[in-house]
Amino acid sequence: MTILDFTTVPAYAAPRAKAPLERVTVPRRPVGEHDVLIEIAYVGICHSDIHQVRDGWSPGSYPMVPGHEITGRVLQAGPGVTRFAVGDRVGVGCLVDSCRVCANCRAGREQYCRRCVNTYNDHDRNGEPTYGGYSTHIVVDEAYTVRIPDGLPLDTAAPLLCAGITLYSPLVHWGAGPGKQVAIVGFGGLGHMGVRLAHAMGAEVTVLSQSLRKKEDGLRLGADHYWATADGEVFEKLAGTFDLIVSTVSAPLALGSYLGLLADDGVLVNVGAPEEPVSFDLGRLLQGRRSLAGSMIGGIAETQEMLDFCAERGIGAEIEVIRAEEVNGAFERVLASDVRFRFVIDATTI
Ligand SMILES: [Zn+2]
Ligand SMILES: [Zn+2]
Repeated sequence: MTILDFTTVPAYAAPRAKAPLERVTVPRRPVGEHDVLIEIAYVGICHSDIHQVRDGWSPGSYPMVPGHEITGRVLQAGPGVTRFAVGDRVGVGCLVDSCRVCANCRAGREQYCRRCVNTYNDHDRNGEPTYGGYSTHIVVDEAYTVRIPDGLPLDTAAPLLCAGITLYSPLVHWGAGPGKQVAIVGFGGLGHMGVRLAHAMGAEVTVLSQSLRKKEDGLRLGADHYWATADGEVFEKLAGTFDLIVSTVSAPLALGSYLGLLADDGVLVNVGAPEEPVSFDLGRLLQGRRSLAGSMIGGIAETQEMLDFCAERGIGAEIEVIRAEEVNGAFERVLASDVRFRFVIDATTI
């Protein structure tokens, strides 16, 4: 067990807000009763990693090690661990703890627990900073660890832990399925997962993207229709069409225009997180009893359900694997929408 007794591990961190990431070492807690020590294999680069490193949402905690799309293998299990054994293929998403007693926690909606602990840029119950998956190892309570089914490669599975569940949860909650018209707004890391998942659920899927640049990819991944929103006529042609629209864009959206695309009783769900407030005409909701909603990742059991769903259907993310030292350039390419569709860091290069 000696190799496992380390307390610091290599990682890539931003030393302060807006600074480039650099290689550092960070502490990991000793493996506790219910913890697993995970040797990280891959970690996805999520748009929110960039938001947080650049302090777009709220004052961050530095040094900041981003990364909440983590896959790897169990290297050590605490004595009280019952669900995992050494060597198991596992994943960790956006949460590493929550209060476990509130209504949300008891209902498996840990992501809405007011005391949930984020995988990074947060503090655990003991007040220690949490460091994410741009690292070689992480220690996580087994209750916040999921199993990666054998059918899913660890690299293409990594983005499922955030991008995948972020789309899966609202698609299930609002009933995407046969006979339903579903539109996905934005066709990047989140959007491409939305297309694959909604198609697998049996819905008729439309992509609404700024341009037709990625149309071939969209149709290949399961979209039935692909429209460029830069062509304003789309909003007239498709008025009243969709039962469900999921917006994945992190820039402010012309909500009024998109609400007009909803059928009666349709729902527009926002899963992107624009840094600026948006305004729109509430009258758009009155017509046809439309709803505007939000959704944030998913619970732990639901994340497992999503992984099993993806494994059965051979669904993974479309990825570009990079070495850790390429991470700063990758951030710039994400901001320029120059990635198809998710960067994944090979953690052995950290
Ligand atoms: Zn994310
Ligand atoms: Zn709770």
